Amino acid sequence: MECPCHSGKTYEHCCGPYHKNRKLAETCLALMRSRYSAYALDLPDYIIKTTHPNSPLYEKNLEAWIASIHEFSSTTEFQGLEIESFDDRHVTFYAILKTFGKDTSFREKSLFEKSEGFWCYLKPLFFLQKSQADD
Ligand SMILES: [Zn+2]
Repeated sequence: MECPCHSGKTYEHCCGPYHKNRKLAETCLALMRSRYSAYALDLPDYIIKTTHPNSPLYEKNLEAWIASIHEFSSTTEFQGLEIESFDDRHVTFYAILKTFGKDTSFREKSLFEKSEGFWCYLKPLFFLQKSQADD
């Protein structure tokens, strides 16, 4: 199957090996793409594993966190991902999403940090939902 991160590659040659613990993301860009596809495939464990323990978005109630990821993943169509810019710790992207048929696309600049040697998502430095921008 084609990778849900919209790289144009097959899942096996893109995010699959990260999700299956066969490979670690060498860059924060690869990690970001693999988190997008993990949301698309409803893989809450991978999202949790790749969220930095010091992240303000790290949810201590794992059960509630898993439920909210599952709800987001199961009600959202992950229609596109455009990488606008990136460097060794940041990725700015535009995620094209539809939730219950409504456009929930957003633009974000994410900050990444290593935890125990692995790249993790730390927090958004900038977040703007398309519907907010249109208003
Ligand atoms: Zn991918």
